[in-house]
Amino acid sequence: MMKRMMMLTRTVVNRFTIVQSHSLRCHSQSRRQMSMGSESLVSRLKSCGLLQTKGLIGGKWVDAYDGRTIEVHNPANGQVIASVACMGDKETKDAISAAYDAFAPWSKLTAADRSNRLRNWYNLLIQHKEELGQLITLEQGKPIKEAIGEVGYGASFIEFFAEEAKRVYGDIIPATLPDRRLFVLKQPVGVVGVVTPWNFPLAMITRKVGPALACGCTVVIKPSEFTPLTALAAAELALQSGIPPGVLNVVMGDAPKIGNSLLESPQVRKITFTGSTAIGKKLMVGAAETVKKVSLELGGNAPCIVFDDADLEVALKGSLATKFRNSGQTCVCANRILVQEGIYEKFTSAFSNAVQDLKVGNGFSEGVVQGPLINEAAVQKVDSFVQDAISKGAKVLVGGKRHSLGFTFYEPTIIGDVKNEMLIARQEVFGPVAPVIRFKTEEEAIQIANDTNAGLAAYIFTNSMKRSWRVAEALEYGIVGVNEGLVSTEVAPFGGYKQSGLGREGSKYGLDEYLEIKYVCMGNMG
Ligand code: NAP
Repeated sequence: MMKRMMMLTRTVVNRFTIVQSHSLRCHSQSRRQMSMGSESLVSRLKSCGLLQTKGLIGGKWVDAYDGRTIEVHNPANGQVIASVACMGDKETKDAISAAYDAFAPWSKLTAADRSNRLRNWYNLLIQHKEELGQLITLEQGKPIKEAIGEVGYGASFIEFFAEEAKRVYGDIIPATLPDRRLFVLKQPVGVVGVVTPWNFPLAMITRKVGPALACGCTVVIKPSEFTPLTALAAAELALQSGIPPGVLNVVMGDAPKIGNSLLESPQVRKITFTGSTAIGKKLMVGAAETVKKVSLELGGNAPCIVFDDADLEVALKGSLATKFRNSGQTCVCANRILVQEGIYEKFTSAFSNAVQDLKVGNGFSEGVVQGPLINEAAVQKVDSFVQDAISKGAKVLVGGKRHSLGFTFYEPTIIGDVKNEMLIARQEVFGPVAPVIRFKTEEEAIQIANDTNAGLAAYIFTNSMKRSWRVAEALEYGIVGVNEGLVSTEVAPFGGYKQSGLGREGSKYGLDEYLEIKYVCMGNMG
């Protein structure tokens, strides 16, 4: 439903997008240029080849076959940044064929060769981190500092898996008969369909494509229609880095058509998806027909539990970071702040003071830490959750309405006296709203925290070591932050329990998602 509303905010037009192709010649620019108008920023990104608007199939930039394009908007001011190819099933089938043809030569390269090319890609991403950050702020809205931070985070997956490419070890199993030798080989699964959301336009791609390419898989990427430009710029840099044509393909446009083509193709051996739980479930059902492997990184409903014995400063810093990063539009955002009764007044008062000071505005403006929401549908959803909570007895402590800046800006908000039954505590608000729930005992906090179908991230703030262990073990979540609100890193496994997903990304575990295990039994060896 929400997706349909979002779709209405986009215009698909029947015309070819004209793109000039330039060799890459831009280098990191000074921060001064980030405050320039969007138009000159766009033309500079164009002139350095990082504003691609076509899909990438078999190493070639191609228009949609019927010439359709889709507009990409800047959520901070509603302006059209560019029009990109609006592709569907035909282009996706060709992208799958390109990835299929590229699979054998790519997977047969030595691990060191694949590793070097990934390392080149990492270097280029870092070299262009300011331009990529600018693209992210333009199309997604997050403050430029956060956007550049995302480039570093996103690139770190390419670096990490460039290193891991050389460590895809098998096993030798002690034989059960004297003339037998038993081996385990790990081999790439094949062509992978990669479907990603808009909230981290770069990192959600690299977290999947890094391990896939490291293992020897090839990919067809479908970025969100809201943020295709970052994905296309990263793809351009992948081409520059020596990753061969066809190994990495990008199609965007008609999501159901692209999704169905990926699901129906027997050549696609795996679907890896990050996005909403509703779409993840659809893809899981669709993948059953061809029994594809599936990895899912879905929605969360993170509890952030502040105990009476917490260090107030640490709890405040952690809660602010986990709630308000990316204006509350992350899957690991604290969705419910649970505060024990002994510290409730002190915490909410200090939290309110801090949230009142958060500067809202265009992500390119100095000092801004809260950008716009992705679109009008997102604002309406956030506001409806807030109104629902108020109508059921919750109290607005800070904010609580659209921001006077207009567009899709929403005031950083705290709501007190929230009950776990309210809509805002049952579903992901995905916006800058912190609902605070009061609790009495540790058992009650654990019960409230686990009372959800989601199980991605949870946070606890306490000075008790025993309680840290006890509660971390009791929480039904894939990720637990103890006295820390920022937990994501390429070296640790990221993923959820329950309906928050299947599989893990990042870390040594992330590689397994793209590998088949082959058992080889050799007889007559005596
Ligand atoms: P979404 O609506 O599920 O979209 C995600 C991707 O799926 C987009 O590329 C979208 O394309 C595509 N899509 C939509 N319908 C499809 C279909 N029928 N077949 C194939 N693909 C389809 O999610 P979102 O609103 O972009 O992202 C927000 C959600 O992602 C939140 O729930 C958040 O918690 C979750 N998320 C989870 C993680 C994690 O690691 N667990 C990380 C980040 C975000 P279009 O955009 O082009 O329609």
